[in-house]
Amino acid sequence: MGPEAFLSRRVVTPQGIRPAAILVEGDRIQAVIPPSEIPAGTPREDFVDAAILPGLVDAHVHINEPGRTEWEGFRTATRAAAAGGYTMIVDMPLNSIPSTTTVGALAAKRQSAAGQCLVDWAAWGGVVPGNDKELEPLARAGVRGFKCFLVDPGIEEFALVGEPDLRKALPSLVLTGLPLLVHAELPGPIEFATQHLEGENWSQYQTYLRSRPDEAELAAIHLMLALCREYGFRLHIVHLATASALRTLQAARAEGLGVTVETCPHYLHFAAESIPDGATLFKCAPPVRCRANRLALWQGLKDGIIDMVVTDHSPCPPPMKRRQPGDFRSAWGGIASLSTALPVMWTEARERGFSLTDIAEWMSAQPAKLAGCEARKGRIAEGYDADLTVFDPETPFTVTENHLHHRHALSPYLGESLRGVVKRTYLRGRLVFREGGFSPEAAGREFQQ
Ligand SMILES: [Zn+2]
Repeated sequence: MGPEAFLSRRVVTPQGIRPAAILVEGDRIQAVIPPSEIPAGTPREDFVDAAILPGLVDAHVHINEPGRTEWEGFRTATRAAAAGGYTMIVDMPLNSIPSTTTVGALAAKRQSAAGQCLVDWAAWGGVVPGNDKELEPLARAGVRGFKCFLVDPGIEEFALVGEPDLRKALPSLVLTGLPLLVHAELPGPIEFATQHLEGENWSQYQTYLRSRPDEAELAAIHLMLALCREYGFRLHIVHLATASALRTLQAARAEGLGVTVETCPHYLHFAAESIPDGATLFKCAPPVRCRANRLALWQGLKDGIIDMVVTDHSPCPPPMKRRQPGDFRSAWGGIASLSTALPVMWTEARERGFSLTDIAEWMSAQPAKLAGCEARKGRIAEGYDADLTVFDPETPFTVTENHLHHRHALSPYLGESLRGVVKRTYLRGRLVFREGGFSPEAAGREFQQ
């Protein structure tokens, strides 16, 4: 079979947004050409005014399978991803049982994923106390990098690391050449703040917010930058929530340190001032901070200090959200947003004068680069995987449970008015999502170099 042409007046390419035809042959993009140059007889699909974006890449997803499939799983997470315009997701090493901290655990993960995925996936490995000997074998086995926690992640199987653990792990990690993704909050400032909140009302969002102060993030980032300077590894700060660290991060870049930074749609869309008391669906860590902080994070994106936007999709079974009686202290922290991230980001970005080119950079090209798959993912260009997201950027809609496709239809975005609808998602040339429906075929596979 010869190539097929996908056309639109708004194809989001690395060179900008333009009318173009994407010629797809098999899994790959054969060429991006002016529509007038489509060879005669080529089958074509014209999306007219709907934009064609590179398939989004989410470098921060908790799939939770095997072991906590009642929370989420490969099938449901990749459906939610396809509906959200994502064609590749990278799984975090924790919340599944076992955690991905050994080669054996990675094999179990692969077995769970087999035959279930609607989009492509890859795995991060974990750094936990005492698994330094596992890092190089995990790297050879195909993890895209490593994740660690500086604060208790709240589950038994994945322990936090302190500076001495990191000093043991970093020499092996450096040899892998892979990035270290860090949950950057230190326990000290959180414990200190929490001690002063005994007897406070934990159904109020402000109480939770005060328990996880900016200083916890800032102190963790300072520690990691010092280690980065000493060991020379690739450092990546996950889900930056505090804008107070932006200047420090900017200075670290200027100094030449290999540090990258992500934030999430919820930090860019919600603000602490408007989170109702008892609304534990908004709980995540670090927490959603104030309006002024949100504005400063947008400036951080504009200035290029924040490189990318990923979801930190982290669902749980409904009872764990403790919505009755709305207890922020015991509720599970995590926001599921694979299906809604693109319209959330576009609604905000558009009002702030950004374009779909920025969206493609933050949500596709940069996460692909972090996960080391930038030679095939993250751009609409010759030779790349034919991962395409057809997005109508104008149509407004209100988020309902029908828009969520992960295991439990819980989300703080329910009821939000957003702009921009994912019409179709193509994975390596195959249609995997078409507004309202999914391909029966599980065409997703693990990303291999
Ligand atoms: Zn996470």
